[in-house]
Amino acid sequence: MATVSINLATGSFQQEEIIVGIDLGTTNSLVAYVHPESRQPAAINDLGRGTIVPSVVHFPADGADPIIGAAAREYLLTDPQRTIYSVKRLLGKSYRDLGQHASQLGYKVIDDNSEGLVKIRVDDRFFSPIELSADILRELRARAEHALKTPVNRAVITVPAYFNDSQRQATRDAGRLAGLEVLRIVNEPTAAALAYGIGLDPDEEKTVAVYDLGGGTFDISILRIQQGIFEVLSTNGDTYLGGDDLDRAVVDHWTATFGLSEAFHTNPHLQQQLRLAAEIAKKYLSQHDDFTTHLTNEAGQNIPVTLTRTQFDALIRPLVDRTIAACRQALADAKLETKLDAVLLVGGSTRVPLVYDAVSEFFGQPANNSLNPDEVVALGAAIQADILAGNRRDVLLLDVTPLTLGIETLGGLLDPIIPRNSKIPTKAGRQYTTSVDGQVNLKIAVYQGERDLVSQNRKLGEFTLTGIPAMPAGLPKVDVNFLLNADGILQVEAIELRSNTRQQVEIKPQYGLTDEQVEQMLMDSLVNAKDDVAARLLIEARTAAEQLLYQVNNFTRKNRQHLTETELTATEAQVATVQAALAGTERDPILKAMDELDELTRPYAERVMNISIQQAMAGKKIG
Ligand code: ADP
Ligand code: MG
Repeated sequence: MATVSINLATGSFQQEEIIVGIDLGTTNSLVAYVHPESRQPAAINDLGRGTIVPSVVHFPADGADPIIGAAAREYLLTDPQRTIYSVKRLLGKSYRDLGQHASQLGYKVIDDNSEGLVKIRVDDRFFSPIELSADILRELRARAEHALKTPVNRAVITVPAYFNDSQRQATRDAGRLAGLEVLRIVNEPTAAALAYGIGLDPDEEKTVAVYDLGGGTFDISILRIQQGIFEVLSTNGDTYLGGDDLDRAVVDHWTATFGLSEAFHTNPHLQQQLRLAAEIAKKYLSQHDDFTTHLTNEAGQNIPVTLTRTQFDALIRPLVDRTIAACRQALADAKLETKLDAVLLVGGSTRVPLVYDAVSEFFGQPANNSLNPDEVVALGAAIQADILAGNRRDVLLLDVTPLTLGIETLGGLLDPIIPRNSKIPTKAGRQYTTSVDGQVNLKIAVYQGERDLVSQNRKLGEFTLTGIPAMPAGLPKVDVNFLLNADGILQVEAIELRSNTRQQVEIKPQYGLTDEQVEQMLMDSLVNAKDDVAARLLIEARTAAEQLLYQVNNFTRKNRQHLTETELTATEAQVATVQAALAGTERDPILKAMDELDELTRPYAERVMNISIQQAMAGKKIG
């Protein structure tokens, strides 16, 4: 329920409850809103602390409430085990997903169950990435409430375009834990486009690239926007490439040039001092040509260090080149027929002039950086929130589903219903029937993946349609419908059309399916395509043989009186041959035995049919 109040001075209605937009970043998070009167989006700067809230949570040793943001970042050096950063990397992931990366973090990631979701250990307490993300969201919510002097209960939160269903669901759960009703999960590049006003006019049609270089990650997305629909044509990037790597390049350069390795590499305090100085130098060089400072070594001596823009550019060139290679791939994947209408820069690291130049050169047009690259995602989220609040014409967001969704059919094969890369929300369905006479239940097992065999895909869930009226095999008509909503939640419905028996379930793809896993599943499907075809053919042959055996057995049971002893024995022998072939793993013997059984029984079947027709005719009186 929304509350409204009337401004007595102006006579205008004011919507009291503001829906905020949140950029929950790996390095930094921000909360923004659309000002109810000026209608302009703005990032919230509470108590003059700035709009950027570092995504860092520190747990004080005395067990007091966690500290979040810039204050928490201070403890990264002095109390690393109780100071959690980059938690977004862990959202919706299992320990196995993290692999070697787990050991690179300053805090403890727990591996009690390699299949389950990771937990982070602080002293004797355990936290899930969802809880830690909720801590950050709670802080953003508190700042918004304090600055806007109004309760904040609803939000739009952004996620990278490549986030899978599990990671999106985990983000949603974190919001709920922070007391926020999450009205929509929006892709970061979509939010950036919205902030630039792209997509708000239903008549425009645009294709844009969003280049996002943050603190630890790089994402490039190609979007097509038409009639207010945002479609992700392709994404690419590197989840371990960002501003931190630029800092590291500077640290390494200084260490080598000024002979700092011994003094600075053994002492964590000096190391941190060096890292911070490198970041300051990097930011300074975004606006100036030369940087100079002093570092203090263990003996208290001042060591001057310098860096020029030219030196810095040479140091980071290979890293920038890597981002351009990813852009090339994303462009190729998007299969564009037209030129891009705009190239948008997002993320603090796009302030580096070399990045601006390289991106503009690659795309053949000046990149757009007119909005603050730290804030642009949060601003776009605020606009989306404003749209959902009913303050603007609704804009539909369109994502794609990363993997095929389908159900298991006879023989353990996957029958695809919603193919991979389908735009969501989407709806699709198919009709099935029973394979056995009198079958009254039908099991519907739902899978996600690209392989032909369900056993090699990921099972999302199953249910049974019960109460199908007993009918001969093949007669019931069962419609199975898939409805995938904008948040990636799948609803599956099965209806037997003759009796109108129906069953419905909602399936949330489970946690723990990472983009690496998605990639792996796609790779496997390509690598194994040949094996899969062979396996599929074998299964199809087996299924057909089993159905033939079923029909033949049915036939002989019902028509024993019309068959000779020799015919019965021959049939039984050939049935045994088919069964023997079925026990093997070769397709050809199955097909051969089936053909023989078919040849053998066809004349009897025809004869029996004639008998039945004659009997039927005999029973009828004409005239
Ligand atoms: P994320 O989206 O990953 O949370 P941000 O978009 O907030 O990250 O980017 C943070 C990164 O931007 C940090 O590495 C920071 O050093 C870098 N950065 C911020 N301002 C500048 C600047 N003026 N010049 C270069 N890099 C900058
Ligand atoms: Mg970001």
